[in-house]
Amino acid sequence: MAGETVIKPDLDFIKRIVAAGGDTAKKCYQCDTCSVVCNLSPDNKPFPRKEMIQAQWGLKDVLKSPDIWLCHQCSDCTVYCPRGAKPGEVLAVLRQMAIEHYAFPSLLARLVGDIKFLPLLVLFPVLLLLFVLKALGVLGVRVAEGLTHQGLAIPKGTIIYSKWFPTLAIDAIFLGAAAFAVFVFFQGVKRFWNDINVNPWTVRLKGGIVKNLVAVLTDILAHNRFKKCETTFARSLNHLMVVFGFIFLAVVTGTAFLLEWVFHIESPYNLFSHLWWLKVIALMGTGLLLYGIYQVYLARQANAEKAGPGTYFDWQLIYLVAAVGLTGALSYGLRALLPIPVLAYPVYFLHLVCIFCLFFYAPFTKLAHLVYRTVAMLYARMSDRGF
Ligand code: SF4
Ligand code: SF4
Repeated sequence: MAGETVIKPDLDFIKRIVAAGGDTAKKCYQCDTCSVVCNLSPDNKPFPRKEMIQAQWGLKDVLKSPDIWLCHQCSDCTVYCPRGAKPGEVLAVLRQMAIEHYAFPSLLARLVGDIKFLPLLVLFPVLLLLFVLKALGVLGVRVAEGLTHQGLAIPKGTIIYSKWFPTLAIDAIFLGAAAFAVFVFFQGVKRFWNDINVNPWTVRLKGGIVKNLVAVLTDILAHNRFKKCETTFARSLNHLMVVFGFIFLAVVTGTAFLLEWVFHIESPYNLFSHLWWLKVIALMGTGLLLYGIYQVYLARQANAEKAGPGTYFDWQLIYLVAAVGLTGALSYGLRALLPIPVLAYPVYFLHLVCIFCLFFYAPFTKLAHLVYRTVAMLYARMSDRGF
C-alpha cells in the first residue's frame, strides 16, 4: 500500500532496555508533558517523548539519534511525568546502549556495563602493571645512579615513585591505553556521524565544523545548557568542578611530560622547588575533583526519590573518578607528608590501576558521553536545533 510504513520492533532490544534499568518506558502513554517541561528540548521535533515510544516499541534506530545526547539527565521531565515513566532515566539507558552500539569491540562495552565483570576488568591492569614491574627487575633495568630495579620489591630509603615504576614505563603503558581509547572513539564517532547524516529527518548542515566546534566547546566549558536544568540544578556546578579538576590535572600531566622528555628537567617538583606552581595546580585539580565528585555523590543520594537511584553504569564512573582522586591524594600524602613506604607504594600502584581503567575503558564507560555529546551538540548547532 502506498505511503505505508512497516515498523519492525526488536523484542531483544526491549528486553535489553528493561535489563539496563529502563523498565519504566512501558508506562509512557505519550502525553508529551516531558517534552514540554524540558528546557533543553528544541521546538522542532522535541525530545524525549518520541524517544520514549521508540524505546517502548523496540525501534533500535533510537540509538542513532543525536537527541538522546542533548539530554543532560536533569530529571525535570521525570519529576513531571504523570505516569512515573522516568523519561530522563530511560534516555540515560539509551545513551548507555548507544555507547555499547558504537564502541569497538562491543563485547568489551557489554562487560564494562555489567557489574559481574568488574573484578575481571580491574584484574587486567593489575596483572599488566605487575608484569611490567617484574620484567624491569628481571631485565636489571637501571633506575638511578648505581641502582638497578628490584622487581616487585618495595624500594628502601626516600620514597621516589619513579625509582619503583620508571617514568618511561608508565608513559609507554598510559600512552598505549590512551591511543587505544582514541582509536575506539574515532571509529565510534565516524559511525555515529555517518548515522546521523543519513537519518530521515536530517537537515542541511550550516557553517564550518571548526568554527562550530569551538562554539560548542565554549558552551560545554561554561555548562550553559546544564545550567538550564531545574530539578537537579546543583549538578551543573558539581559537574563543572569535576571537569575543571580533570583539566588542571591534564595540564599538570602534559607539562610534566614536556619537562621530562623535551626539556630534560628532573623531577621531583615539589612545593619547595622552582616548579612549585606545578604542584599547586596539581593540588588544586585534585581538590576540585574530589570535592566535585563528593557533591555529585551527595546530590544523587538527595535526588534519588525524585530522579531515581541511578544505574550501575552511572555509579561506576562516579566511584572510578573518586578512586582516582583519593588514591592520588593519598599517594601524595604518604610520600610527602607522612612517608610510610610500605603503604605509599601499594597506594601509588592502586592509583596507576585506577588511571589505567579511566583511560583504557573510557570509550565504554559513561565517560564516553564527553565525546558523543560534543558530536551531537555540534550536529544540533549546525542543523539549527535549539542553539
Ligand atoms: S514519558 Fe511521561 S510525560 Fe513523557 S510522554 Fe510519556 S507519559 Fe507523558
Ligand atoms: S532529563 Fe532533563 S534534559 Fe533530559 S529530557 Fe528530561 S528534562 Fe530534558
